[in-house]
Order: sequence, then structure tokens, then C-alpha cells
Amino acid sequence: MDGSSAVVVGGGIGGLAAAIGLHRIGWQVTVVERASTLEDAGAGISLAANGLRALDELGVGEAVRNASRGQYSGGTRTPRGGWLARMDGSALERAVGTPIMGIPRSTLHRLLRDALPAEALRIGAEADSLQQIHPGTVRVGCGNTVLDADLVVAADGIGSPMRSRLFPAHPGPAYSGSTVLRAITEHPVDPGTDFELTWGPGAEFGHIALPDGRAEWHAVLNLPAGTRFADPLAELRRRFRTWHDPIPALLDATRPTAVLHHDVHELRTPLPSYTAGRTALLGDAAHAMTPNLGQGACQALEDAVTLATAPTVQAGLAHYDAERRPRGQAVARAARQAGRMGQQLSHPVAIALRNTAMRLTPSRAATRMILRHHAWVPPRLD
Ligand code: FAD
Repeated sequence: MDGSSAVVVGGGIGGLAAAIGLHRIGWQVTVVERASTLEDAGAGISLAANGLRALDELGVGEAVRNASRGQYSGGTRTPRGGWLARMDGSALERAVGTPIMGIPRSTLHRLLRDALPAEALRIGAEADSLQQIHPGTVRVGCGNTVLDADLVVAADGIGSPMRSRLFPAHPGPAYSGSTVLRAITEHPVDPGTDFELTWGPGAEFGHIALPDGRAEWHAVLNLPAGTRFADPLAELRRRFRTWHDPIPALLDATRPTAVLHHDVHELRTPLPSYTAGRTALLGDAAHAMTPNLGQGACQALEDAVTLATAPTVQAGLAHYDAERRPRGQAVARAARQAGRMGQQLSHPVAIALRNTAMRLTPSRAATRMILRHHAWVPPRLD
């Protein structure tokens, strides 16, 4: 791009990746991050081929792969343990060069932060204003300091204050109907497979095996927004006590204080644009989606590479919007649909029909469906 400086608001996966991309093409980048600690550091994340390819283009793919564990075995099950679909990580690897990889979020964040010069990060700094002060310059206010730049990247997450400023008529995030509790086990466990999802009526339990032998698990429940439990782990033990192994064992291997609990929101009303003036929205700020396809962060990584490959700021932002908006919004729609047909389904007849359809679907067809989202090829970052 023809500019040379950017302020990135938000130091999550999306913001850090955008900063790495711009830094790699020679820009001076400042990331402002209001939090001093990561809210979801105790959780894990799965990265699919599209996200890993974006990380390769950003120069951190190898480090991330080395710190991850490939998901070769597992699949989708019923609460009694019957298989609805098997996952074939080797088939994915043959098709797109990699299985899905699981990594602790804190490790991914550290590797992204390490790819930036230390002076690029301002931790504990909250952006509180955004102003176009000149046709070519935008100003971000952070308490008593102001930062001027050719481009602002709003990577400030699902609740994005920047989005509210730029699109005041947009209704913002909506509750998906599901709440998620998750944790990483305290010590190594043997869950038997690399990755599983189990669907009961209006409920899902899943795990990802991590490289150090521990596992991340998550439990998703259809519940009103704001529902909280006095003892979340005890509540999950009660709800999942009759579900197949290793579910009770994973809960037993978890410290009660390690359990994170968040309601799942999404940007149900699509944004009319991913850009406004000299600001680009990126990651959850642009397209927060339900986690049912494990694609939210992968889409943020795609955004980051695409943004850094645009030739000029003006034309580049138009290109970014044209490239990213249809894709991000389509994946968000597909994720919502996957949640409705998967974890959220609660009527016994609908569940029986879905389960029969899944059992009859050949694994090659299931792999083809996954590849629709994973087989993305990044533009070159020169
Ligand atoms: P965030 O991570 O929300 O980062 C935004 C940052 O901006 C925050 O650090 C915040 O503190 C900061 N900020 C906000 N306002 C300001 C301000 N005014 N000034 C300064 N800083 C500010 N995706 C996958 O690809 N694979 C998965 O397996 C997967 N699993 C998931 C499981 C669950 C349960 C959930 C909820 C999501 C999952 N996702 C997954 C989605 C993924 O976590 C998100 O899409 C991704 O983390 C979004 O990154 P982000 O950088 O856009 O936003």
C-alpha cells in the first residue's frame, strides 16, 4: 500500500495478525490493547488450513504448527458414544496440506506478539476516539495521547466500540441462544482421540487434544443469556454425567477455578461495509460468528493478510471490502446454520432425522463440505 503508518485498535488474534502483515510490508504499526491480561487465556483454539496458510504468509506458520497438535482422529458422536461422523485428518492433510491444528490460545498470542517489535505494542491503552483530521490522516485518541496514521484497523472484537462509532445505526451483536463453558485440563489426560464433538438435545460437549498432553474441552448449552451457575463444574458434572467417556473424566481432570463461562453472541445483521473512510474493520469487529465451524479466528487471519496485500490505501480498502465481506459474511451464515443443525437442535424428531442423515453421509462428502471453508489460498505478501 502507498501509506506508511497504521494504528491497530485491539491486540487479539486479528489485530496482532494485521499488525504483523503491515509491519512485514514496511509500515510503522502501533497496536493499542486496553486489557493487560487475556480474558480467554485458559482456553484452546483450532486452526484450519485457511488460517494456517494465512499464518504462513505472515511468517509465523511454522512456529504455530510446531506448537500445535494435528487433529487426525475423532469425529461427532451421540451422548451414548455412537459415531455420527468420523473425522479424517489424513484426508484433509492430503487435500489441503494440513489437518486442523489445536493450540492453547495463550501460545498463539505469544507467537503473534513475538513477531512484532516490542515498541509496536501498547498494552493497557484504550482507544477512546477516532477522527479523520485530514483526507489522508486518521487520529486515534488514547487517554491523554493521540496517534495519527494513514490507516486505522479496528480489530476491537465483537463489542467493537469503533464499529459503533462508524456504523451508529447498526444494531450490534445478538445473543445466539447458547452459552459456552470451557477449560484446559489441569494435567495430561488421554481422551482417546484428537478432537470430538458430542451432540445431545440443545447441548454439545467437545474436546481438542493439546500438544503437551492436556486437553481443552467445551460444553455448549441452550440457555437464556446471562445464566450463571454457583459451581459451574459441578453443574456440568451433573448435566453430562451419563454422557460417554472421556467426558466425565475430562471434567474430573479440571480445576473448578479454571472454568471460563461466556454467552455466545454474533453479528447477525451483516455490516454494509468493512471499511469507513481510512478505517478497516477486521476480525470479530467485522464478522463475529458463532464458533460452530471453528472459523472466527481463521477468518480474522484471512482478513489480516488480505489487508496487507492491497496496493494503495484508497484502492486497497475498496479491494479489502470486496474480497473479505462476501467471504466473512458467508462463513458467518454457515456457522449459524451449523449451530442450528448441530448443538442447538433439541426436538427429538429433528435430532433423529439429522443423525440418520449424518450416518448416511459418506466421509468423503463430509470432507468436501469442510473444504469449502478451508481451501482458501492467501494472496502473496511481498
Ligand atoms: P478479540 O479477540 O475479541 O480481540 C479484540 C481486542 O480488542 C481485545 O483484546 C480487546 O481487549 C481489545 N479492545 C476492545 N476495545 C478496545 C479499545 N477501545 N482500545 C483498545 N483495545 C480494545 N475461531 C477459530 O478460528 N477456531 C476456533 O476453534 C474457535 N473457537 C472458538 C470457541 C469459542 C467458545 C468462541 C467464543 C470463539 C471461537 N473462535 C474460534 C472465534 C475466535 O475466538 C474469534 O473469532 C477471534 O478470537 C477474534 O479475534 P479478534 O482479534 O477479532 O477479537
